[in-house]
Amino acid sequence: MDSSHAHLLDGKALAQRIQTQLQEQVEQLLSSYGRPPGLAVLMVGDNPASAAYVRNKERACAKVGITSFGRHFPTNTSQVELEETIQALNQDERVDGILVQLPLPDHLDSVSLLHQIHPDKDADGLHPVNLGRLVRGETALRSCTPAGVMRLLREYQIDVKGKQAVVVGRSILVGKPLTLMLLEADATVTIAHSRSQNLADLTRSADILIAAVGRPQLITADMVKPKAVVIDVGINRVTDDMGKSRLVGDVDFDPVREVAQFLTPVPGGVGAMTVAMLLHNTVLSYTRAHS
Ligand code: NAP
Repeated sequence: MDSSHAHLLDGKALAQRIQTQLQEQVEQLLSSYGRPPGLAVLMVGDNPASAAYVRNKERACAKVGITSFGRHFPTNTSQVELEETIQALNQDERVDGILVQLPLPDHLDSVSLLHQIHPDKDADGLHPVNLGRLVRGETALRSCTPAGVMRLLREYQIDVKGKQAVVVGRSILVGKPLTLMLLEADATVTIAHSRSQNLADLTRSADILIAAVGRPQLITADMVKPKAVVIDVGINRVTDDMGKSRLVGDVDFDPVREVAQFLTPVPGGVGAMTVAMLLHNTVLSYTRAHS
C-alpha cells in the first residue's frame, strides 16, 4: 500500500468471512433444531435496483443455508394483502426473519407495514420496538447497514471511544440508528442533514466521518480532516462521459483517498456488510427461537 493513500476497509472480504462463520453455525445447529433458518424478503413492483438487492440477499441466504420464503408481488398489490402476508409469516415457525424491500410503490404505507412485523422476526431492525431498544442500549435486532458499519470499524480495530464522529444524513434507515450506535460506543456524535449550516466545517471536525446521503461527490477532499476515517454509505448510479453506468458513493473517492487514513470503497464496502448483517440477524432470531 502507498502510505500516502488511505487504507481501504474491505467490507466484501469481511462479509464473506461472516457468511462462512454463519454457514458453519447453521450446519452445527441444523440437527438439534430440526430445520434450517428461514428469511422472507417481500418485494413489491419492478424497481430494478430493488430486484438486484433481493437477488443478492437470496443468493447469500442460499450460501449460508438459510431457506428463502421471499415473495414478489405485482405493483398494484393492496396494503391489506401485504398485511395478511406478514401476519401469516409472523405465525410461520419456519420463518425467523421478515424483510420488506424498500422503497414500496406510492400507494402503500411502508411504515405501517414495518410495524406489522413481529419484533422478534424484524430482520432489518426497523420495528419501533427494536429502535426503542437501541435507544435504551438494550440487546435487539439491529438495523443492518449501521450495524455493518460498526462491525467494519471493529474489525479494523478503529477506536471510536472519545472520538469526534460526524454522520451526514438523518434517515431512520441509516443516519439515526448509526448515530445511536456510535454514541453507545462512546463517540461524541454530530448528526448533519440538508438544513445543516456550514457542512464542511462540521465534516472537517470529524475523526470519523460517515456519509449516508445519496449524492455523488458530496464529500470532497477539502471537507475531510487529514487522517480521518471516512465511511461511505451512499450508493448512487451515475453515467460517465462514455455513457457507461456505474455505482459510486457520496465521497469523491480518489481525492479523499489522498487525505483520509481509512476509507470504504463503493461497491465493496458498506453494501456487502449490510447483507452479512441481515443474515446475522436471521441466524440470531433462529437461535433465539430455539433457546
Ligand atoms: P434518505 O432517506 O434519502 O436520507 C438522506 C439524508 O441525507 C437525509 O437525512 C437528508 O437530509 C440528507 N441530505 C440530503 N442532501 C444533503 C446535503 N446536501 N447535505 C447534507 N445532508 C443531506 O437516504 P438513506 O435511505 O439514508 O440512504 C442514504 C444513501 O445510502 C443512499 O445513497 C442509499 O442508496 C444508501 N444506502 C446504502 C446502503 C448500503 O447497504 N450501503 C443501505 C441503505 C442506504 P434531510 O433529512 O434534511 O432531508
